[in-house]
Amino acid sequence: MQLLSDRILNMATSATLAMAAKARELRGEGKDIIGLSLGEPDFNTPDFIKEAAIQAINDNYNSYSPVDGYADLKDAIITKFKRDNNLTYTPSQVVVSTGAKQSLFNVAGVMINDGDEVILPCPYWVSYADIVKLFGGVPVEVKTTIATDFKMTAEQLEAAITPKTKMMWFSSPCNPSGSVYSKDELKALVDVLAKYPDIYVVSDEIYEHINYGEGHTSIAEFEEMYDRTITVNGVSKAFAMTGWRIGYIGAPEKIARACNKLQGQATSGANCIAQRAVITACNESPEKVKYMIDEFKQRRDLILDLLNDIEGFKCNVPDGAFYVFPNVTHFFGKTLKGKKINNASDFSLFLLEEALVATVTGEAFGNPDCIRISYAASNEQIIEAMKRIKEAVS
Ligand code: PMP
Ligand code: GLU
Repeated sequence: MQLLSDRILNMATSATLAMAAKARELRGEGKDIIGLSLGEPDFNTPDFIKEAAIQAINDNYNSYSPVDGYADLKDAIITKFKRDNNLTYTPSQVVVSTGAKQSLFNVAGVMINDGDEVILPCPYWVSYADIVKLFGGVPVEVKTTIATDFKMTAEQLEAAITPKTKMMWFSSPCNPSGSVYSKDELKALVDVLAKYPDIYVVSDEIYEHINYGEGHTSIAEFEEMYDRTITVNGVSKAFAMTGWRIGYIGAPEKIARACNKLQGQATSGANCIAQRAVITACNESPEKVKYMIDEFKQRRDLILDLLNDIEGFKCNVPDGAFYVFPNVTHFFGKTLKGKKINNASDFSLFLLEEALVATVTGEAFGNPDCIRISYAASNEQIIEAMKRIKEAVS
């Protein structure tokens, strides 16, 4: 009998984590790799959050929490949703999980049946397609380009809808393109969705605070969407807490209850110390972490300046998150340092081997013309990486 399940054999490895592992491995061999592959803030978790965690340990928080999260954490999340997103949720609509990634897993697990179609505007975050497929869903990719700042138009959305469409999943600010949907752009999508009341939306807002533009709009703010939107968020990015593993949803009660049921059979709930610390994070004004956002904006401007100076990289100006997603088709078909570049994966590997800079191929995000570069790195690293890339390709 076959050892491993078809389910796992058919699943792709997370390209972001695989690239980070490869960079780590090469570093272990003594190579001076600059890692711009992983989307992870390079800041320390703020002291006020660390202190809350230490306090929780000393207060003997060591038992299982309620499966869907401590009541006072859910209250803090409700406060956050009201304060930042103008969204009103009750405790039975909120579920705390082991990272926003598990929140997405839960939602897929409780909503997707075999053959259900899930619309994914491309580029999409690396794990969406595989999470959807794991639960029997069929990802329906909607291609976008720099011409629309990598955003799906209302016409494209309408064309992708079929009688089998169950949901649409998207992130704004977007990982990997950094694009942010304006209120008007969301309204255009909502006008289409208004005609199809059975379609649900997963709105992944984990980069909400890492926004350099007009500000953030949650799609659930539109009255006609509130009852069919799962708003996903977490603390990994804005609070530099990736390893603490806390994410959460605000959702229609039926969906939240189902996620609670699934999680009860999977993890029994998120880590209790991390949950206690996140209460402090959610109750604080986002102003408290603005110093990180300001720094990311300065780095975005720096990396765009340097990239635009290298022939062959075409960039949009990302309004949020901490990624640039240049189109690198200029290099396809060329031979660089004896290596034939056929696609974005070849190019990303070339940059790793010849420039010692780790990036991620756009193929992992449903766009084979681009690569993703994370600028959650120091100015020195960004400057040195762009210098190496420029040398390698010229
Ligand atoms: N959604 C997006 C768009 C992300 O970039 C990430 C990155 N990790 C996640 C979800 C998952 O976040 P978490 O660390 O909370 O699991
Ligand atoms: N979200 C980050 C990224 O896209 C972390 C890696 C991951 O969770 O896959 O790089």
